[in-house]
Amino acid sequence: MSRRVLVTGGNRGIGLAVARSFAGAGYEVVVTHRGTEPPEGLAGVRCDVGDPESVEAAVEHVRREHGPIEVLVSNAGVTSDGLLLGMSDQEFVDVLDTNLVGAMRVTRAVLPDMVRARWGRLIYVSSLAGMAGAPGQANYAASKAGLFGLARSVGREVAKRGITANVVSPGLIETDMIADLPAPRREEILARTPLHRTGTAEEVAAAVRFLAQADASYVTCANIPVTGGADVG
Ligand code: NDP
Repeated sequence: MSRRVLVTGGNRGIGLAVARSFAGAGYEVVVTHRGTEPPEGLAGVRCDVGDPESVEAAVEHVRREHGPIEVLVSNAGVTSDGLLLGMSDQEFVDVLDTNLVGAMRVTRAVLPDMVRARWGRLIYVSSLAGMAGAPGQANYAASKAGLFGLARSVGREVAKRGITANVVSPGLIETDMIADLPAPRREEILARTPLHRTGTAEEVAAAVRFLAQADASYVTCANIPVTGGADVG
């Protein structure tokens, strides 16, 4: 059955690959975007996950124009790197606000429709950094680790309603986000990656799409690392 999907930050990078993958499989897809136009061929809604009113308005817009959201891919994320000793409260809190509180805001907004439908898929894009920590990324890693707590808690809250909540944790994926990653840091991560290469946004999208399927119904409160084998225990 074709389901309706909202992908936050679906205008570029991993989110766009996720959106295109769902669209290619026949899902009805809406992506959030800020400032820019939505990508060619995809429906879009303006949304800043850092702004509670914007999130509520965006979800209401999708509900009105398309129908209730059945699959949420909470993908929007930012980095603001620096060593903790020099990091201001603001630099820490801003990253948490987008990556973690933003995910909570969108979840809270879409959840009533999923509860009513007694079906839903909540999928959070975390990170290798959330699993393993990352020097220079205490704010980012903390926000991404927080997504495990969010997914596993909401997953327990709504399990009886046919709603699953899972996390996908990408390793190094070739997008704008890692364009400025210093070469030594890139090498350090690849050295502990058995596949010894970066991943593609499409490889992340494949894992996300699996979790959205009807027959992924016994997978909840789980994490799928898409890290080329890095830091999976
Ligand atoms: P990009 O920088 O390419 O894309 C980030 C996306 O998030 C953009 O669509 C951006 O929108 C959106 N976004 C950022 N802030 C907000 C906000 N306040 N409200 C709404 N949308 C927002 O990064 P990636 O595609 O690489 O990252 C996607 C996700 O994957 C992120 O959560 C990231 O942390 C995670 N990830 C990425 C990895 C990588 O190696 N690339 C590794 C592990 C995890 P806009 O275009 O308007 O800025």
